[in-house]
Amino acid sequence: MKSWSNLLKPDITLGESILHLSPQIIQDRGLRGLVLDVDETLVPFRYADVSDELTGWLREMREHVEALWLVSNNINATRIGSIAESLDLPYIHFAGKPFRRKLARAVNAMQLPPAQVGMVGDRLLTDVLAGNRLGMCTILVEPMLAPGDPPRVSHVRSLETWISKTFGHR
Ligand SMILES: [Mg+2]
Repeated sequence: MKSWSNLLKPDITLGESILHLSPQIIQDRGLRGLVLDVDETLVPFRYADVSDELTGWLREMREHVEALWLVSNNINATRIGSIAESLDLPYIHFAGKPFRRKLARAVNAMQLPPAQVGMVGDRLLTDVLAGNRLGMCTILVEPMLAPGDPPRVSHVRSLETWISKTFGHR
């Protein structure tokens, strides 16, 4: 179990989109499974369809891991279900990350130790926190944005804002 101060710290900060998560990284970390966040990790919010680049990335990744799941906080089962179907992956929507229960369901279904499963996502306070709480290998990626989407403020800055709002002056 990671200490409290490390719960918001990704094991890997990719600094690029998920398309740059390479088989080399998977092998170096000994990962055998991946849980993927959906919105802005795989597909921009405004898009319903997966890109050819993503499909190609996934095809390669399938050769290096035994199991892949989508776990999304989005309550829209139609959106997440259709993305999952086009990628031919099992999914959980309305997952409630950073709560662990539904994420744990996906990891349990893989029948792999959590440390050998990567939790890949674009958000510290949901994806990384949930994955770290389960003892997974957490991988923070840059968001997948559509042209014209406003750039995301830095993770560190949004985290600091959240902390000061939550614990700071009232
Ligand atoms: Mg996301």
